[in-house]
Amino acid sequence: MPETSPYWNPYLETLEPERLRDLQLAKFRRIVAWAYERSPYYCELYRQAGLEPGDIRSWDDVRKVPKVEKDMLKDAQAAEPFPYGSRLCVPLSEVSEFRQTSGTTGTPVYQADTWQDWEWWAEAWSYILWAQGYRARDRVFIPFGYNIFVAFWAGHYASEKLGCEVVPGGVLDTASRILKIKELKATAMMGTPTYMLNMADVARERLGVDPAGLSIQRITCAGEPGASIPSTKKRMQEAWGAKVFDHAGATEIGAWSFECAEQPGGMHVNEGLFLVEIEDLNTGELIEEPGRKGKMIITALDRLAQPCLRFDSKDIIEWAAEPCPCGRSYRLIKGGVQGRADDITKVKGVLLSPTAIEEVVRGFNELADEYEVSVERIGDSDKITLKIELNPGAEDQEQQVLARLKDELRLKTNLGYVIEVHPVGSLQRWEVKARRFKDLRRLH
Ligand SMILES: [Zn+2]
Repeated sequence: MPETSPYWNPYLETLEPERLRDLQLAKFRRIVAWAYERSPYYCELYRQAGLEPGDIRSWDDVRKVPKVEKDMLKDAQAAEPFPYGSRLCVPLSEVSEFRQTSGTTGTPVYQADTWQDWEWWAEAWSYILWAQGYRARDRVFIPFGYNIFVAFWAGHYASEKLGCEVVPGGVLDTASRILKIKELKATAMMGTPTYMLNMADVARERLGVDPAGLSIQRITCAGEPGASIPSTKKRMQEAWGAKVFDHAGATEIGAWSFECAEQPGGMHVNEGLFLVEIEDLNTGELIEEPGRKGKMIITALDRLAQPCLRFDSKDIIEWAAEPCPCGRSYRLIKGGVQGRADDITKVKGVLLSPTAIEEVVRGFNELADEYEVSVERIGDSDKITLKIELNPGAEDQEQQVLARLKDELRLKTNLGYVIEVHPVGSLQRWEVKARRFKDLRRLH
């Protein structure tokens, strides 16, 4: 690919929308037939729905294919062959990669990939990195633990595929990673927003190093929505003096989206490799028009060992109204992944999304990076407590800051908050992925 091309795959990324849809439908039919013929799980699921692969002829038929949810994947996993279960479409001897989901909500899901699938992972990540300006001249530092979670593994391989020089930051601690970045003049890195902010903190507080003065020019984030939340993105960009880009992917699905160099306030869906449908949360109706939030139903169109077809991801997304100035025909989702259907909760009858709180809190320069939100039931009423830390130097403005914070939170979320100020550094620091929102009502 010429270095100046903005696209990793100019043909697919600028394909006319109609032809892109045709390609997706053809690939969808192919993967459904593949799963039906090779996986006892899918065969049974589709038979019960009275569906055979040949029945899928139009987009209306796509909606007839049964969705799968995480619990269904776990059930299928209990069957033979061990450890993947009846969703597996290839002989075990063809499986070359093991990964698993984090299992924060119970049993993890084991994920098999063949070598061909693994090359597909690296290809999907190549779209991301190329769109974000990674080129062969980059020295990419990957501050990631290289473990059973897929996380940045494929980012590593894709960086190599682009010809970048890759520095695996494996088992080093945070301070050593920062010193390595400094020593090697690394130009790019990847991590969760929580960890990127955490690293910047460690650089300043423990090492006396200004991260913005290091050589990092671009950062690819994943694992949390922060890089698409304007105030969190701004914090990271200022801390590192670098462009910060978002990407969302998942173990069961793959690397399905990326923010491009234009930073258009959203992410492109890689529609050459994935089919994304948005469904109304209440009615299940398909949402095709921009501006209406729903949950994502996603199909990886080319993943072979253990395909995920029409997976109910619970991610809340919406189509953007405007095309991206970068010229890609891949559609944009506005504001990235806006939350999880599981996290959106009703408080005092109002729908509350934790990302809305993050956007407001991180917009205040007077506040430190960490905060915590909890919702509890007191008598017949819900109470939301927001714990914050004031940055050093902002103590004398406490009253004004709290008043402005309350106003902005009410404006953004239509709810009132009890705000507690805690000493800087006293709230829990998260290493990789954060759980800053606690709904204590669910415990009772
Ligand atoms: Zn774009």
